[in-house]
Amino acid sequence: MHRPSVLDNQTLPDQNNRRSRKGLVSVFLILVFLASFAAIHFSTSQIEAKNSSMAPDLGERLMAEPFQAARNFRATRSAVAKTSLNASPDKFILSGGYLEGKEVRTLRLTVQSSLTFSVCRIVAADRCRALAARIARKLSWFMDVNRDIRKGDQVVLIYEDLPDERDMKILKMEYFSKYLQKNLEMNFFKTPDMNYGSYFDHRGREVISHLDSQNSPIRNYSEITALPGEMRQGHVNGHSGTDFKAEVGTPVFSSFSGRVTRTNWNTRKNGYCLEIDHPDKGVKTLYLHLDKVLVKPGQWVGRGAQVALSGNTGRSYAPHLHYEIKSRDLKKTVYNPFIFKYHKKYSRTISNQHRKDFEKAIRLYDSLLKAS
Ligand SMILES: [Zn+2]
Repeated sequence: MHRPSVLDNQTLPDQNNRRSRKGLVSVFLILVFLASFAAIHFSTSQIEAKNSSMAPDLGERLMAEPFQAARNFRATRSAVAKTSLNASPDKFILSGGYLEGKEVRTLRLTVQSSLTFSVCRIVAADRCRALAARIARKLSWFMDVNRDIRKGDQVVLIYEDLPDERDMKILKMEYFSKYLQKNLEMNFFKTPDMNYGSYFDHRGREVISHLDSQNSPIRNYSEITALPGEMRQGHVNGHSGTDFKAEVGTPVFSSFSGRVTRTNWNTRKNGYCLEIDHPDKGVKTLYLHLDKVLVKPGQWVGRGAQVALSGNTGRSYAPHLHYEIKSRDLKKTVYNPFIFKYHKKYSRTISNQHRKDFEKAIRLYDSLLKAS
């Protein structure tokens, strides 16, 4: 017997109308089922997409992320139990304390929808984004922060609020990365022979790298505040250089031998600036926001020659050197100097001479965390 298809039902004789209506109803039900399945699937993939791109936490992207929870949290903060790293998730703590007379804060949290969102749940709104950016910058020494920060990661932090409301100093951080299945750790310490302190693991090994002074564009800086694209590897969009926080007037050196191609272009953005061509390395190096350029276009400079003084000119919010390595071809690939093959790098270890003081500092950090 001929079974009418839905498509022919309008031309069917009367005796088939009932059956065709039945057919229509079932097709309608199937369509509803399919549509709801598609909707569920669509929303799931949206959630997955949201999770996998969880931590675009840096630079301009920081500003794009919405948050509302900081206010809500104040009401619930006192009810939240204390935890330690690897304890139960979804607990948030912010407490105060003193470290050698300085007022500091301790923070414990589990990353939820993003690092910024989670920090902004407990830290005051005027500071939380800056603090999240600082945490991410420190993490960028260990991981690709655009990709590897995941929901469920745990952070323990001791930090000091600096007078500038957007500035704070991280003294200790422990981070458990779910994705890497690793505990990361950094403790701030300064020996008397350092101009500025640095970050070490509990065994006294420095967790941050420095460029070998032979090729370093700057030798005296307090910290690196940005890496290209805030990524560990390679050729990226976003921030194109490495920012070295340094006092105005700090000597700046040519990383490699080469010829000065241009100086002081687009000064509203770059400030006083300088570009050197290094054909044998296949790159050009750029030095921006300078206080003073000491060389002229066309001039040949040797590796390590002083070419400028660092500054705070152009679009710059604090004294720093923006150093950029860019390929000579039209692709203008930018390189992370800590990965670029012609830059040697090194990390330090706390010497025996300073070991006791270092261990004392670690104990102080730990006791503060225990008390919080
Ligand atoms: Zn920069």
